[in-house]
Amino acid sequence: MLRRWSQYVFTVILAVFLFAGCGEKETKYVFLLIGDGMGPVQMNAAERYLASMEDRSGIVPLAMNLAPVSGSATTYSKNRYITDSGAAVTAMATGVKTLNGTVGMDAEHRYPLRSITEIAKESGMKVGILSTVSIDHATPAGFYAHQPDRGNYFGIARQLANSDFDFFAGARFRQPGDPAGKDKTNIIDLAKRNGFVYAENSTAFRYLEPGAGRVIFIHPDTNVEFAMPYSIDRDEGSITLKQMLEKAIALLDNPDGFFIMAEGGKIDWACHGNDAATCIQEVLAFDEAVKVALDFYEAHKKNTLILVTSDHETGGMSMGTSYGDNDLGLSKLQWQTGSFTELTREFRNIRDVMINEHGPDSVRQNADWAFEFVRTQTGLGDAEKGLGLNEYEMADLLTAYEKSFSVRDRENPLEYIAYGSYDPFMVTVSRTLSRKAGIGWTTYSHTGVPVPVRAFGSGAERFDGYYDNTDIFKKLNTLIGKNGGWVRR
Ligand SMILES: [Zn+2]
Repeated sequence: MLRRWSQYVFTVILAVFLFAGCGEKETKYVFLLIGDGMGPVQMNAAERYLASMEDRSGIVPLAMNLAPVSGSATTYSKNRYITDSGAAVTAMATGVKTLNGTVGMDAEHRYPLRSITEIAKESGMKVGILSTVSIDHATPAGFYAHQPDRGNYFGIARQLANSDFDFFAGARFRQPGDPAGKDKTNIIDLAKRNGFVYAENSTAFRYLEPGAGRVIFIHPDTNVEFAMPYSIDRDEGSITLKQMLEKAIALLDNPDGFFIMAEGGKIDWACHGNDAATCIQEVLAFDEAVKVALDFYEAHKKNTLILVTSDHETGGMSMGTSYGDNDLGLSKLQWQTGSFTELTREFRNIRDVMINEHGPDSVRQNADWAFEFVRTQTGLGDAEKGLGLNEYEMADLLTAYEKSFSVRDRENPLEYIAYGSYDPFMVTVSRTLSRKAGIGWTTYSHTGVPVPVRAFGSGAERFDGYYDNTDIFKKLNTLIGKNGGWVRR
């Protein structure tokens, strides 16, 4: 009996010692990589595109889809089954469901919710927030800001400038000054006063090195939409999300670890516009960033967790359409020279010039130039590319061409169902192109389908199965938080 007791005590002491020996945090490098609007089909379409370009069946798997652990998460918000980015990110970042349009606050807008990034910072990790859209946009904001309205960009930016996080990178602030003109604070000056290094060109970006201190990097090619260019429109040499993530790792790597949230924000934008080729290129660019995280993981396997997920699906993207290509020959999308955002801009510019020269009636009555424009810019109409137009498609496009000259009737549901808020002709071109390649769309908005979760590394096994987006916070909190559960500030 006595002997057994001593054995027991010995085992306990040994266990305590072993535990103390493992005092170092297990999960100390966390990558949370969010493809905004990226549902299972967006991922799979990119994989099918790669195989189709090699003229073979099946897929070429994305790096993110080689994860040993896969799950999926429901995304509904407190007040709507179909969430927006604000409520979805609040759920993932804080574990609490809130109203669509809210970031980092409870549904009654009474108090700010503590986010996983704030918990990471408190536990000694460095924190980086990266996005391909403006750094004050809902998804990045959900990790550092607390606002009843995601449209309060000035308030969000102020919280960024006052935060104790270490690295921000993305497109420029929407409201660096108070839009009401009452508050005279300039966000960039405030950030500098608070000790941030502010970098906004490629040279400064290149020279950012470990020891640079806390940094805000604003991408120099921030176009009129307050976002980095789409991958499909990007100039050679323009800084990518992949490069921003490499920089984040270089700046934040330290013995106490880091938490990096990086968002591919324009997968969502492309899908709102039902633009399949642009969406696929955005997913591929996002996967390049995943590979950067995977390289880091290879060197720090024991302590690194990579999570890849999404806030919601956008567009109701599907694979398989009536009169579509049932082999999903997505290589038919390869002829598209730019995003539909850019192509529509170009289309309208040409149309304006022609109207100036020939008058509106003449341009309206003859759509030949528009079909020629579309054929050279996307391949649609070119039978040799498998993109010839049948009678029905021609009629559909001609109706849309006609509509693109008139003032939009926002109250007409049929018009909205057909064209959303986009140029009727160009969006019909985009949807026709998608359909011919085999890709369908149900909406110009978000959908309520569960999103994929992929996990690699330390603690990854917790992300297996089917759960809610609030569980992503809870699982992360058990890995890196000290307090457990969500906490009021
Ligand atoms: Zn979103």
